[in-house]
Amino acid sequence: MAVYVYKFGGTSVGSVERIKAVAEKVKKVHDQGDQLVVVVSAMSGETNRLTTLATQMQTAPIAREMDVLLATGEQVTTALLSMALNEMGCPACSYTGGQVRIETDSTHTKARIKSIDDKKIYADLNAGRVVVVAGFQGVDEHGNITTLGRGGSDTTAVALAAALKADECHIYTDVDGVYTTDPRVEPKARRLDKITFEEMLEMSSLGSKILQIRSVEFAGKYNVALRVLSSFSEGRGTLITYEESAVEQALISGIAFNRDEAKLTITGVPDIPGAASKILGPVADANIEIDMIIQNVADDATTDFTFTVHRNDFVKAKDILIKICHDLNAKAVTADDSIVKVSIVGVGMRSHAGIASKMFAVLADEAINIQMISTSEIKISVVVAEKYLELAVRALHAAFELDQEPKEA
Ligand code: ADP
Ligand code: ASP
Ligand code: MG
Repeated sequence: MAVYVYKFGGTSVGSVERIKAVAEKVKKVHDQGDQLVVVVSAMSGETNRLTTLATQMQTAPIAREMDVLLATGEQVTTALLSMALNEMGCPACSYTGGQVRIETDSTHTKARIKSIDDKKIYADLNAGRVVVVAGFQGVDEHGNITTLGRGGSDTTAVALAAALKADECHIYTDVDGVYTTDPRVEPKARRLDKITFEEMLEMSSLGSKILQIRSVEFAGKYNVALRVLSSFSEGRGTLITYEESAVEQALISGIAFNRDEAKLTITGVPDIPGAASKILGPVADANIEIDMIIQNVADDATTDFTFTVHRNDFVKAKDILIKICHDLNAKAVTADDSIVKVSIVGVGMRSHAGIASKMFAVLADEAINIQMISTSEIKISVVVAEKYLELAVRALHAAFELDQEPKEA
């Protein structure tokens, strides 16, 4: 008898019919004698709908109240799925995150899981019931409802799999695995049979929304056997693994992009010690996360400073920068929120030179101007104008032959 955690995303539970289809799938596994915990997202569109309602009440809704609101989406789906299962003769029981006792810290809207109580879940499983758990939510030590950030049901599933020492964690979604890039942007994208944790972490952190980054971190840390599959079709999906395949010698494994960033520049800053901290200090104090940073010293003893932030923080960051510009007697602030970050990712990069220059040449051939560059051992990211996103992704996908199976080494 195996223990599985299955997670179904928004589209997979997007209608009454879809929830019934999920129930059929779950019942089959239960009938085979395996123990199953099912994590569900809110029905597709619901979290966005609730967010819009909130902004009609308050321009910047209080985070605690936001969590009370958003957590309802997942609660609806748990009850409906449990009803569907019971109707089919498959005993099931639904729980909110707080009822299981998925305890998190108190960082509302982006809480982190601290502990999970497995007792109640195992009591149900051992009594022959399917356990249906609301994804994306928990409760802090004071009993406040918290949520884990967008896409957080993935993390609920993997964290539960780790806590329960489940045999496998399956993430069922609307694509049949992890592709070389988002198939919505490049229809020639190819499904990967396997991807390493390291690469998946980079893909997620660079903007691929297929798995929330925290879920990949959890899976890596607790060695959870994690697979991404389609809830709409059969297939093996993609395994996230420690193994670096000896056969597949791809230089790069995938392309990620992030539409959620914005770029800010302050020019003519006096080039003296402490300038960077005077600029970034107040931004950090306002709880704004900074991603890429470039500093460039000019001949006239001034420096230009450019960095990117999440688009949600764009206006706030711009206002702070305008004040800093005045205080530092710098020249000007320019701000652009129609940029994207495009990144190529692959462990193969470690052993090969020339990948960056190839990437830049491909973009140059398409007349795409690179505004910022950042690199690490296994990724290269560039910031380009948003209008070039599709062109950049497709050109890179073709140039690095990602549509073809990697050649044998
Ligand atoms: P769910 O609601 O099931 O959690 P998401 O919308 O969060 O689903 O994630 C699935 C989507 O991720 C796909 O529809 C696809 O457009 C997108 N995606 C982005 N990058 C990739 C990738 N590399 N491989 C597959 N899908 C990707
Ligand atoms: N419903 C939440 C969201 O849309 C969590 C999730 O689906 O993973 O982000
Ligand atoms: Mg998701």
